[in-house]
Amino acid sequence: MITFRIKIGYPMLRMRAWRNSSISTLSSTHVMTILYHRLWLPIILAALVVRLWNAPQVLDLESLLQAGNGKEDHQERSVLVLTAHPDDEAMFFAPSILYLIESGWDVYGLCLSTGNATGLGEIRKRELVESYRILGVSADKVYHLDEPSLQDGMNIIWEPEAHILPYLQAHLEKQPVKHILTFDAYGVTQHPNHMNLPRAAQAIGPAVKVITLKSPSVLSKFTGVLWILYHKLFSRSDPDVAIVISSPRQWWAGIRGMLEHRSQLVWFRWLYLAFSRLMWVNELVLL
Ligand SMILES: [Zn+2]
Repeated sequence: MITFRIKIGYPMLRMRAWRNSSISTLSSTHVMTILYHRLWLPIILAALVVRLWNAPQVLDLESLLQAGNGKEDHQERSVLVLTAHPDDEAMFFAPSILYLIESGWDVYGLCLSTGNATGLGEIRKRELVESYRILGVSADKVYHLDEPSLQDGMNIIWEPEAHILPYLQAHLEKQPVKHILTFDAYGVTQHPNHMNLPRAAQAIGPAVKVITLKSPSVLSKFTGVLWILYHKLFSRSDPDVAIVISSPRQWWAGIRGMLEHRSQLVWFRWLYLAFSRLMWVNELVLL
């Protein structure tokens, strides 16, 4: 009888076997032992994935909003997602929308244009509704505008108070909310149609809290899910920033939302979906 090592991953298992034994002549106990030691790591990883699949993480959103016991007040937990183009909601805000919906918030969407820069406005209007539906917002809560002063375009400036505010006020009179979720002044992509939205929202006044999506730096924008690991290991908590991290299930819902925007799925959007950390994480700041 000899002793030899079978490398089975981690840890090494020391086993005994007869000199001329083959796997077919090993006893069932030996086979079970080998299977157990070969499979424990995959089993743990699978359990971890299952555990994480339904485990969104939200850091300090409630304290950021100082919502108090707003759970009792339906309107207190209402939010309008204010975007510029169909697909903004899925590409940038999906983690927040999914979290808010699953936490019982009343979520509405207002998209200020049909995204008609290339003549696809009619198609994109329908894609907007379908994307929101995937994210959990029904069609009757999704609105869009198609106004001459708010047309989609890199060279078209939407003046916050002259162009955006009147329509936003009119919308809020019909559908009041306590919060607006929108871009920050950098607008994630520096698209001029994004960048003036927070100023218009702020002009509504103190009755509506404005939550802005913090634009990631260029480098960290495409770190994907790895940013979560970086955040866990190295980031310090900031009381002024709430962090919404999607579970894998929610990430997939965000991807499916974006897939509804078929007219926009050019090759570089696939790269975006694969590597953007905004599909996983939203950092939110109260304006
Ligand atoms: Zn946009």
